[in-house]
Amino acid sequence: MTIPAAFIAVGSELLRTQRTDTNSLLAARLLRGRGFRLVEKRCVEDDAEAIAVAVRELAARAGLILVSGGLGPTADDVTREGVARALGVGVHRFPPLEEALAARYRALGREVPSFALKMADVLEGAEILPNPRGTAPGQLLRAGSCTVVLLPGVPVEFETIFVRHLAPRWPAQEGAVRVLRLAGVYESMVEARVAPLYERFGRDHVTILAGRGLVDLVLEATGEGAKRRLEEMLEAFAAAAGADLYGYDETTLAGAVAAQLRRRRWRLAVAESCTGGLVGARLTSEPGASEVFVGGVVAYSNAVKERLLQVPAAILAEHGAVSEPVAEAMALGALKLGAECGVAVTGIAGPGGGSEAKPVGTVHIAAVTPERRRQAAFTFPGDRTAVREWATNLALDLLRRVVGEG
Ligand code: ATP
Repeated sequence: MTIPAAFIAVGSELLRTQRTDTNSLLAARLLRGRGFRLVEKRCVEDDAEAIAVAVRELAARAGLILVSGGLGPTADDVTREGVARALGVGVHRFPPLEEALAARYRALGREVPSFALKMADVLEGAEILPNPRGTAPGQLLRAGSCTVVLLPGVPVEFETIFVRHLAPRWPAQEGAVRVLRLAGVYESMVEARVAPLYERFGRDHVTILAGRGLVDLVLEATGEGAKRRLEEMLEAFAAAAGADLYGYDETTLAGAVAAQLRRRRWRLAVAESCTGGLVGARLTSEPGASEVFVGGVVAYSNAVKERLLQVPAAILAEHGAVSEPVAEAMALGALKLGAECGVAVTGIAGPGGGSEAKPVGTVHIAAVTPERRRQAAFTFPGDRTAVREWATNLALDLLRRVVGEG
């Protein structure tokens, strides 16, 4: 049984454009495997009533609430007040904390300003969680069946207090997470294939994360026998993923392509139009890429396609730059850079340049190896960035499949 947990990020700056709430991700990571299930996170402004409302509402359905931020010395740091209001408890100044504050300021050659003394305020019944990285300590208190923890917003302080004072109370249970990485599939296709397995392993233990042309299946198991159950899940879900599975855990798609090329002792060159070098960039971000990747041509104009990749002008004139014959000619042209394998991408990333016959999102990809030639045509959704990302992922995926065969 897991306990529902909630997270509240306090800070008006988090609701504007200046800062992103990253502490909720930190909280999710720190809580994982400790018997909690993060069910909700919220961002509220620096306002005691807004904080009180959030705490009250979440306390009704969560056994743990982590509140981050708003513990500092300034007028907008009102988390203590907001939580006290929600739980109907008082706040009192705690002399040992007051003295510690004064000593901290003295060490810096300063007198503690009176407004900063509010960092020595403690909620009635709260346990103080010392903060070795900063000034304001964390606080923990119980309200009925709910535990409320106040933690500073500075990420390093948040994490340090959690690790020192909270993690030991909630020891990590035996458990594990594995990720199956799939490419060249849509989320809905994966969902349809793995749905029959939910009954056997439980829907809660599987998360499907979709990227553009990529799908990760995150499998989790906790409690007694977790390792064995995870092995069973891994085997069953891998079978359902079939040839769309390119690796596990930290494996990247470009890394899987590089591994296939290494296995075949083939080198690769790329010819990119609409992706403008993104395929090459992904391959070269893999350590050891030089063993399998020789380089590429960003052939954006027809002139460069003709001159550097020897794409025949007649093919360009007859079929247009975004076409199957041109993609194949580009991939073959790339081989002249000194590689056994080539991949080419040509398409219309938008927003302009589309037509009825070739709308924005039309992309042709070709891959050639000493054994095979493969083509794929797509109409990708989304804006320019999305189309380019889809095209990059599917070009790498086509390569992985064609190099991997045989
Ligand atoms: P301090 O005692 O240092 O003032 P605090 O508890 O009052 O800490 P805030 O004043 O709310 O925390 O935030 C301090 C810093 O931490 C700011 O730079 C803020 O942007 C950052 N921060 C606050 N909340 C978050 C969050 N949820 N995710 C990431 N950073 C955060």
